[in-house]
Amino acid sequence: MTVKTYGNFIANKWQDATGGEFIAVRDPSNGLEFARIARGTRDDIDLAVRSARAALSGEWGRLTPTERGRVLTRISAGVLRNIDLLTELEARDVGKPLTQARADVVALARYLEFYGGAADKVHGDTIPYQNGFTVLTVYEPHGVTGHIIPWNYPMQILGRSLGAALAMGNAAVVKPAEEACLTILEFARIAEEGGLPSGALNIVTGFGSEAGVALSEHPDVNHISFTGSVRTGEMVQAAAAKNAVPVTLELGGKSAQIVFADADLDRAVPFLVNAGIQNAGQTCSASSRILVERAVYEEVVARMSERYRALKVGPAGSDLSVGPVVSHRQKAIVEGFLADAAKDGLKVAAQGEIVADAPAEGAYVAPTLLRDVPHQHRTVQEEIFGPVQVIMPFDGEEEAIRLANGTAYGLVCGVWTNDGGRQLRMARAVHAGQVFINNYGAGGGVELPFGGVKKSGHGREKGFEALYGFASMKTISVYHG
Ligand code: NAD
Repeated sequence: MTVKTYGNFIANKWQDATGGEFIAVRDPSNGLEFARIARGTRDDIDLAVRSARAALSGEWGRLTPTERGRVLTRISAGVLRNIDLLTELEARDVGKPLTQARADVVALARYLEFYGGAADKVHGDTIPYQNGFTVLTVYEPHGVTGHIIPWNYPMQILGRSLGAALAMGNAAVVKPAEEACLTILEFARIAEEGGLPSGALNIVTGFGSEAGVALSEHPDVNHISFTGSVRTGEMVQAAAAKNAVPVTLELGGKSAQIVFADADLDRAVPFLVNAGIQNAGQTCSASSRILVERAVYEEVVARMSERYRALKVGPAGSDLSVGPVVSHRQKAIVEGFLADAAKDGLKVAAQGEIVADAPAEGAYVAPTLLRDVPHQHRTVQEEIFGPVQVIMPFDGEEEAIRLANGTAYGLVCGVWTNDGGRQLRMARAVHAGQVFINNYGAGGGVELPFGGVKKSGHGREKGFEALYGFASMKTISVYHG
């Protein structure tokens, strides 16, 4: 098998890491090494930041917002022209079933289309002030933006973070995750072909403890967009604080879907399951907790269980409902939670099936629905990041709110009820950055502002709102008498 080698992408040139080292990339469906990425160093990050800084005063910085938008729109079309290549690569790299990988390519193209169209529509204000003055506000790019990206949705998270940053005129340095980042590297080629000027996008691969730390500490970076775990997010924020630069943190979640007895269960049940097993549960906005009003609890457990028993787990290329998790390390983490559940006597309502011909070296985990789990159990409180959901009953709105809000996180919440007043009461009462009523969008909706409260992070990406996050407002006060 050929093992393709990727370098860093700096100033529109491919170059090996200054240390000359590489990191092996393995296919989680079969455990085989199929690519190598550069092990980026502090020096590589420095080169990338210099390249981005130069772009701001070069060709990229001179483009008008309309011209920037056109570049993004062209790159969007290039992404769609490469859809087969990107789909297969994402499936292989992350272990994502092909249909889900394809949806991610479409989402990346859509982000670029959306932000391409938005680039020349960010207006400032004029502010009524004293006689003889005109006061206006304008939005300006931060400058050099750093983007630290996780492995679970490389293309989607690149699209939402980079798309908005470039639309506002920033120049970016991207540090993708060492476990899966090949589509981000292919994207660099597509962006260059689409006419992205040198230095607007720079990509340095490598370990978080090396390239990631170097980017978050770099004194010439003006804003950091971080998506990943809470622990790392806190370190990135602390590093950025030393340079007094703003940080957007998109962290983990333990998002609940709350099902009331009057809900349309035919509509709800597919969402309840899919939002837990999509991308093998490795989704920040996965719905890992299902809370059900007691009157319909047994019915929902039975209907979800039926779906669980029909789930097939196998290689990404077979395009079943669930692929492997990203690595054996991640598999061990998920299995640790399941071992604790067994030790503590938790009841398994149902499990999916790993297909017989799945390679033994693959990182497969059978999707598992745990029922009647005590609220304080770690499977309820901690993010598992695997295909595991817990389901518990509740009595009345007050208890539903208490349970839903009873974790450290606050990313997304789903509410299923046909009572209009209750829909709004619940939407207002839950701690979450996004609330879905009678639907649930794990990651969906390019147009919808997204982000968390509590340990799920702060700042908003996606939607028009993200553009303000990638800009700083300048107030101009003119005295003209
Ligand atoms: P992680 O925090 O280990 O890694 C994320 C990125 O940070 C990687 O690129 C990694 O190399 C880098 N990194 C690691 N240590 C670093 C350091 N000390 N300094 C700077 N960078 C460093 O997270 P992960 O395990 O790869 O991803 C899973 C987590 O991401 C989950 O908690 C999940 O909920 C979260 N996530 C959140 C969202 C969201 O939008 N809220 C989306 C996807 C994933």
